[in-house]
Amino acid sequence: LSDRRVLIAGNWKMHGSLAAADAFAYRLGEHLADRAAPAELLVCPPATLLERLGSKLRPLKVGLGAQDCHAKPSGAFTGDIAAPMLPELGCRYVIVGHSERRQLHGEDDATVRAKAEAALAAGLTPIVCVGETEAQRESGAAESVVGTQLEGSLPSAGMLVVAYEPVWAIGTGKNATQADIAGMHGFLRRRLGERGTVTRILYGGSVKPQNAGEILGTSDVDGVLVGGASLQADDFWAIAAAAPAR
Ligand code: PEP
Repeated sequence: LSDRRVLIAGNWKMHGSLAAADAFAYRLGEHLADRAAPAELLVCPPATLLERLGSKLRPLKVGLGAQDCHAKPSGAFTGDIAAPMLPELGCRYVIVGHSERRQLHGEDDATVRAKAEAALAAGLTPIVCVGETEAQRESGAAESVVGTQLEGSLPSAGMLVVAYEPVWAIGTGKNATQADIAGMHGFLRRRLGERGTVTRILYGGSVKPQNAGEILGTSDVDGVLVGGASLQADDFWAIAAAAPAR
């Protein structure tokens, strides 16, 4: 079980400033001075804040991750960031295939897989995101959509994390039911079982301090990927505090 330690990951998306990063780390440090981390903690800020936030989180033993990387290790790709650039900023993880990248940047499964492979080659753990839209769930296609995404997006080997994030639950305040989460995570667990490595499966989509206990207590949920509620250290900490002991 130790390699399925609960992971509480924050995705700041395109939010934050140096001042906000400093305030976040300071406040999280106050919580960690009172109580040891109840789970593995990870924050994925925008690239502009990786160095600053990383320097403040390192002494707290809170992990640092990026929100995306390019599939190529270097080259003429203006505006992009290559996976090998991330570890020297202190990153150990990188999110790939977030639904906002898939929807707004047209990333398909093959792109996501190439990014995940690049992350692994750079020594990073990719957090590979999958999830169905509301229309797909309503038409009964959630499992087949997510199964197809998983098959197309996962690298052939290597240690990774999978995040199940129903698109309709991201940033909407809408929550999947505990039964829906358990069903999809069980499905993913069975699919991932064929890989032969231990893969943690996170849930994401409007996770808040109020619902974190129920979500983290759901079978086959190894942690959460938190957007909006990860921007405030008190909320992020309250979510982490809801993690069951493992
Ligand atoms: C996310 O960005 O991955 C996410 C789940 O966002 P939110 O928690 O704001 O729904």
